[in-house]
Amino acid sequence: MEKADTPLAQVRSNIALVCKRARRDPGEVTLVAVSKRHEAAAIKPLLLEGHRHFGENRVQEAQEKWPALREAHPGVQLHLVGQLQSNKAEDAAALFDVIHSLDRPSLVKALAKAFDKTGRQVPCFVQVDVGDEPQKGGCPVGELSALIKEARDAEIPLAGLMCLPPAEIEPAPFFAFLDKLARDHGLEGRSMGMSGDYETAIMLGATHVRVGTALFGERPS
Ligand SMILES: *Cc1c(COP(=O)(O)O)cnc(C)c1O
Repeated sequence: MEKADTPLAQVRSNIALVCKRARRDPGEVTLVAVSKRHEAAAIKPLLLEGHRHFGENRVQEAQEKWPALREAHPGVQLHLVGQLQSNKAEDAAALFDVIHSLDRPSLVKALAKAFDKTGRQVPCFVQVDVGDEPQKGGCPVGELSALIKEARDAEIPLAGLMCLPPAEIEPAPFFAFLDKLARDHGLEGRSMGMSGDYETAIMLGATHVRVGTALFGERPS
């Protein structure tokens, strides 16, 4: 019997297929493997398969897990996909290579200071609250232009926009909306799509998909 595909090979092949249908170059889509709450033992197989982009949602958990994994597997790019408290900005700047959750003026200030202090300039996605769900974080749509201006004035490198649409309803309109907002603001990156909807997100222009469960199985609670 042939060896079954690994979850990573499966997701990669799905991405390639959707890119073909969307007439997009698969090289434009970064798969961020969201390894939050999974232990090193669950992460290692992906590293051994050559995967290098990983996402975590908590600074402290990432600080505990990643230094050792990174040392053993050079080239890891770590993405922060969860809400960031201003008092953790410096730790985040030191550890992460991309931040997906810049969502308020106070964080612009904290990150600008942290980048100064650490000497690192970490590309940031501005997270947009596309579904009016403030509890998830994200900048209200009406405040987006002002926040982008503040970030640009503070010389924060902007990678693009990120969203986390409401669960349980069709996400496509939200992805299309984020794509439009990114275009309106002259931003390249669109961080959108998770295990249940990354194919739809790619059809609608995602450049970064954040996939956890489809790669690692259910998260331990
Ligand atoms: C956990 C998480 C994901 C991954 O979700 P899955 O449904 O497991 O793929 C993506 N984005 C963010 C912001 C997350 O917190």
